Amino acid sequence: MLDRIIGTRRTRQIQRVLRNGKVTILCLVLTIVVLRGNLGAGKFGTPEQDFNEIRETFYSYRSRRAEPRRVLEELPLTGQTEVNEVKENVGSNNYNEFDINKLFVDEEDDVKKDPSAKYSIGPKIDNWDEQRGEWLSRNKDFPSFLNVNKPRVLLVTGSSPKPCENPVGDHYLLKSIKNKIDYCRVHGIEIFYNMALLDAEMAGFWAKLPLIRKLLLSHPEVEFLWWMDSDAMFTDMAFELPWERYKDKNLVMHGWNEMVYDDKNWIGLNTGSFLLRNSQWALDLIDVWAPMGPKGKIRTEAGKLLTRELKDRPVFEADDQSAMVWILASQKERWADKVYLENHYYLHGYWGILVDRYEEMIESYHPGFGDHRWPLVTHFVGCKPCGKFGDYPVERCLKQMDRAFNFGDNQILQMYGFTHKSLASRRVKQTKNDSSNPLEVKDELGLLHPAYKAVKVSSS
Ligand code: UDP
Ligand code: MN
Repeated sequence: MLDRIIGTRRTRQIQRVLRNGKVTILCLVLTIVVLRGNLGAGKFGTPEQDFNEIRETFYSYRSRRAEPRRVLEELPLTGQTEVNEVKENVGSNNYNEFDINKLFVDEEDDVKKDPSAKYSIGPKIDNWDEQRGEWLSRNKDFPSFLNVNKPRVLLVTGSSPKPCENPVGDHYLLKSIKNKIDYCRVHGIEIFYNMALLDAEMAGFWAKLPLIRKLLLSHPEVEFLWWMDSDAMFTDMAFELPWERYKDKNLVMHGWNEMVYDDKNWIGLNTGSFLLRNSQWALDLIDVWAPMGPKGKIRTEAGKLLTRELKDRPVFEADDQSAMVWILASQKERWADKVYLENHYYLHGYWGILVDRYEEMIESYHPGFGDHRWPLVTHFVGCKPCGKFGDYPVERCLKQMDRAFNFGDNQILQMYGFTHKSLASRRVKQTKNDSSNPLEVKDELGLLHPAYKAVKVSSS
């Protein structure tokens, strides 16, 4: 009928206008919806308040944008520093374009200490056992044993305050801490992740010493401190340490007596995962362990001594592991009776001999042994996943770290009815159907409610 009055062509034109109008209105509605989504419904969600918020946001958005642009237009007349300032103000929303170094302030070294001054890790303490004992008797709510055979344990690990020197390093640090959190939760162990360099002279592998000392003194309730490197992962989530075996020991490290005391071999023990009892004995040990650590001349010279005195040690600066072998070998009478060099299970396990056997282990055994059948820890010694260069090909290290992570993670996932599609896969598949009686579903490894985690509540 419209056709007849105003003609077909005109009708089409009107229809097109209406259609375009519809698109315009749709766009307008969409814009408002998006803006509302971003701004929220306002304090009370009234249309007026929304409108005010939108107006204000737009206003400040525009004025914020307008300013830098104005300065930008004036740029040709000004110097380079201002160019940078302006760029910084404008900012980009693209994380890839951002240079993270801009965020690092006060990166320069602290004021140099007098190089002739003797290094000290802290004031001498010689009555720690009494001080701690007294504290424990005054603080009965913080017992150092959770039950007769279960000491209170603090697992300590950490990494440099800076981002890793390669783009994926931090992802592997994340996997590694997730892995440790899982083990600690299952075993009722507390965890501390350190990223602060507490003592500038003790950078690198020596950083753990001042940290451990500080934590022992600040947490008298902790009976054992468990240091674990960031490049070590739990691969047996079910294995509980044989605490009873260590009741008269103060230091437990993976190693072999003959290799340390007889051969003085620098790999006779490993300092990537060890237990240290909170005691005067531990403070004394740290006092004799630390002096080779201060970076610079001391560490370099100590490195020469260690290479000369220890078996098969390459030429490099002093490291905490060689220093420990040297102390135990040269002062056996002083320390050995309180040291347990463990090799019944992998408190530390060298990755090179373990990672290719995971499938075979899955085939023949199950978690809970901690030993060659199912290693407690797989430690990626020499891989340096957070650094620029390691001692092994990167692809091999990262591939095997993923496998170790998934191998451990499968034991966590089984609690919830999932598993990785393969040790090489990040993806998971369901292994158990969801149940309408979820509490009747038990996990095969009994990790949901393990006996060693149970708390006895005294009836009053
Ligand atoms: N580490 C740290 N802060 C640092 C550098 C290293 O806490 O600034 C820790 C980190 O947990 C690392 C450990 O020291 O795993 C020892 O270094 P690494 O594992 O590279 O030595 P490797 O086991 O290969 O001999
Ligand atoms: Mn390590």
